Amino acid sequence: MKRLLNEATAFREEMVEGYVAAYGRYVRRVPGASGIAAVGAPTAGRVGVVVGGGSGHYPAFYGLVGAGMASAGAIGDVFTSPSGEQAYRVAKEVDGGAGILFCFGNYAGDVLNFGMAETRLRAEGIDARTVLVTDDVLSAPPDEAERRRGIAGGFYVFKTAGASAARGDDLATVEALTRRANARVRTVGVAFAGCTIPGQDEPLFTVAPGMMEVGLGIHGEPGIRTQELLPAREIARLLVDALLADAPPDAGSRAAVLVNGLGGTKYEELFVLYRGVAPLLAAAGIEPYEPQIGEFVTALDMTGCSLSLLWLDDDLRTLHDATADTPAYTRIGPDAASAGSRPENIATTGAIGSGTASSAATAAPGDDGGAPGRAGERARAALAGALAAVAAAETELGRIDAAAGDGDHGLGMVRGFRAAVAGVDGFAGTARQSLVRGGTAFQDAAGGASGALVGGWLIALGGALPADDAAVDAAAWGAAVDAGLGAIRRLGGAEPGDKTMVDTLAPFGTALAEAAEGGGDAATAWAAALPAAERGMRATAEMVSKRGRASRLGERSRGHQDAGATSMLYVLRAFGEALAD
Ligand code: ADP
Ligand code: MG
Repeated sequence: MKRLLNEATAFREEMVEGYVAAYGRYVRRVPGASGIAAVGAPTAGRVGVVVGGGSGHYPAFYGLVGAGMASAGAIGDVFTSPSGEQAYRVAKEVDGGAGILFCFGNYAGDVLNFGMAETRLRAEGIDARTVLVTDDVLSAPPDEAERRRGIAGGFYVFKTAGASAARGDDLATVEALTRRANARVRTVGVAFAGCTIPGQDEPLFTVAPGMMEVGLGIHGEPGIRTQELLPAREIARLLVDALLADAPPDAGSRAAVLVNGLGGTKYEELFVLYRGVAPLLAAAGIEPYEPQIGEFVTALDMTGCSLSLLWLDDDLRTLHDATADTPAYTRIGPDAASAGSRPENIATTGAIGSGTASSAATAAPGDDGGAPGRAGERARAALAGALAAVAAAETELGRIDAAAGDGDHGLGMVRGFRAAVAGVDGFAGTARQSLVRGGTAFQDAAGGASGALVGGWLIALGGALPADDAAVDAAAWGAAVDAGLGAIRRLGGAEPGDKTMVDTLAPFGTALAEAAEGGGDAATAWAAALPAAERGMRATAEMVSKRGRASRLGERSRGHQDAGATSMLYVLRAFGEALAD
């Protein structure tokens, strides 16, 4: 993977271009967005099923776009959710007038960004709903099953959604069946070696010789626990036992079985594993239904595997069996004859749905007619300073994020601030307008949890400033910082102490308010508040993560400073310098 690369920054784009060039008989690009739509989508009166997430998981997610499966996939950078704007445009492209079902793994960045897309569609009168994939049994206990993350079992959830939509079910039915599939699928996995992001030299984590990680993540997160490496038959037992211990109520005795390779594990090894799995299922009274062995959700070149069971009922079995035809998965079902005679596809210039998507992001936000002055210049200098600061720390931020997350935090912050700076290039408006513009560009470009949160923070920060630059003083910045923190907490739901960027921002906000009361100028108050932000950041090292990817690791997240709390301190420092200028 690392060897077939031009420039690392162009990786996603070039991969999508090559993919569409090869598979144009199934898929096409969504104009003006990083997404893939099925050639036949939208179909009038059919629900649009939109899957998505970061890239690096092929055939999830865009390999499963096509007839009888997903209508479209929204694609982010490697291991990074697409932005809300991208997800919105992709969904618009496949709106056939019967609503949109979003379906993706339960990761903070995806939840935030797809959530913003869903909100926007609804505001336009398009019924949009979401089913989160939560099949990873080891990532949270049964009484917190809704917190679990989504891994290979998502294949069955997408298949159910796609088949239900393709046969013409209405949105409520598609949603209900997709939810049922998610409620009846479970996955557990192990990893033997980490994976390496294109353009980087080191894997995101390493496994000591003779050991394995149990409870793998699919973004190069380490497992939930480390233990001694076992022979294949013992791994089969470990996986089957974990799944059976967590079987859904009224499971029944028939389950579809998926053995998934993570990207760096040979099919032959997976066959050896299945040899051990089959008799254990039989002994537990489970009839394996059409087992599938291969790669369904990968994590770049990670070595490891997972086992998924979907306990079938009659409805789920019918949908499982239905015809599907995508680049990565084809099945000819009993419905094949009728699947060929679908209603007319809608031309992309047609009246319903698509065609308008790429024009959606035109008007520059935040242009409210306020009078520009020094504060506007300072705000733009603050964005430029923040870009320089996160760029200088990109590697460090990536390394901190890799300890408990997925190693992309530095990359995401640089991408975001680069877009923010480009978004105000040549712009001479107020501080308020500049931050709203910059934040909007940040959100669109960055993706991930931090894209939505930091972009939202900038927008809220700007939105709370007075319209005229002349009125921007210490108290105004204090109120803006308050509003920024409020936006992050509303979007992400984090409390102080949850080991996030909130732990830098909350003490900073309190200290800034106190300093502003003292009556100095904005720059003095800001500088006086920075030590509190730094103390907050340092305190995250001893916290256990409760939000975002790192929260799956529980105690294993302790001992490392939080990535977002760290980058936020650098951003605040850069803002302080710009204000003092
Ligand atoms: P991702 O988790 O999508 O890979 P990043 O790695 O860019 O995104 O950002 C991770 C950082 O985002 C974490 O270190 C944490 O500070 C912050 N974060 C994650 N979830 C939340 C949340 N719900 N609220 C506030 N901050 C969060
Ligand atoms: Mg990350």
